[in-house]
Amino acid sequence: MSTLAPTSPFSLTQYGRATSRDDDPASDSGAFEPAPTEGPLRDRFGRIANDLRLSITDRCNFRCSYCLSPDAQFLPSESRLSTQEIIQLGRTFARLGVERLRITGGEPTLHPDLCEIISELSPLYGDVSMTTNGSRLTEATAKAWKAAGLKRITISIDSVDPARFRAVSRSNLDPAVVIDGIRAAIGAGLGPVKVNAVLLVGVNDEDAPALAELARALAIEIRFIEFMPLDADGSWNTTRVVSSAKTIERISDVFPLIAEGRDRPDRTAVRFRFADGSAGSVGTIAPVSDPFCGECSRIRVTPDGFLRPCLLANSEWPIRHLLKGRGSDEAIEAAIREAIWNKDRGGALRMGPMEGRTMSAIGG
Ligand code: SAM
Ligand code: SF4
Repeated sequence: MSTLAPTSPFSLTQYGRATSRDDDPASDSGAFEPAPTEGPLRDRFGRIANDLRLSITDRCNFRCSYCLSPDAQFLPSESRLSTQEIIQLGRTFARLGVERLRITGGEPTLHPDLCEIISELSPLYGDVSMTTNGSRLTEATAKAWKAAGLKRITISIDSVDPARFRAVSRSNLDPAVVIDGIRAAIGAGLGPVKVNAVLLVGVNDEDAPALAELARALAIEIRFIEFMPLDADGSWNTTRVVSSAKTIERISDVFPLIAEGRDRPDRTAVRFRFADGSAGSVGTIAPVSDPFCGECSRIRVTPDGFLRPCLLANSEWPIRHLLKGRGSDEAIEAAIREAIWNKDRGGALRMGPMEGRTMSAIGG
């Protein structure tokens, strides 16, 4: 499957509405309703959207097997949001009451104007974080991002074993570079630093205890995300998913864990601490075995300017045509309110590869 099919299978009207796929159980095919014109960004099910994942590029220097294909095709540059459009959108969401901003991609650190984007938007949000594969995370970059206003960073690392790390990321990087980067982020004050890992059955599932050991050694949280059907290869199936329960069982055999629950109801991760009192913690994010849609507070903006209210439903709302002075602030805000209001209920995952965009083209 190609990495991107911006118009298919979505059905878009020129007024910026998206229709959901009828065969997608995360979608609701009910009628669209008018959105409230004031107050926080709310959907029909009472959820408040206050956590924005802003994807600033679909490009990436890795080809993680659960995300991108080896021959990934990226958006042409004219299809990508410009730096000014990214900043304009970030300002608009802040005006609408969104409190948390996560800069993501693709690999956001490949964006040439990353520091400008951070410094323009960080004063507007209570919390500004970024997710990165860590390949460009050094003492110098960590300090520069911190100085620009970044508060926290999440780094992805799927194995501490060089061969398995390279096999999963389909890169030539040594995981020691990423681990040094994690140390640099801690040193620069980009904490609490979190680390993400995706485990695949028979590929890197045996790495769970070693990754937990890394969290202990560095006194950070490692979060295991269940493999979702958003990979470019279309290779997802339930037999490849390492469930959160299995991950906890595997880690507990080596480092017994005590469940602590979610920090807040709208947080995706369930947290565990180490029974021996060690520093660090383990989190599990279980969109496959235990979907958390009822409390979802997230909204995503794709690198080509579509609003995607639900990660696992193929409904997208174009908003780029309203930017660059082509729409008033009121028109942009109304389009965003309408998209969020009509967010799918979610709650179920189609048990097969999803058509449409991959994770790298949506923004994780
Ligand atoms: N490139 C950056 C990185 O890898 O951290 C940021 C973008 S990446 C899309 C964000 C997160 O999504 C990463 O932690 C990655 O592991 C996760 N991810 C990507 N594809 C996934 C999939 N199919 N299922 C679960 N998580 C996935
Ligand atoms: Fe790139 Fe991140 Fe996707 Fe890996 S998970 S291919 S680093 S966007």
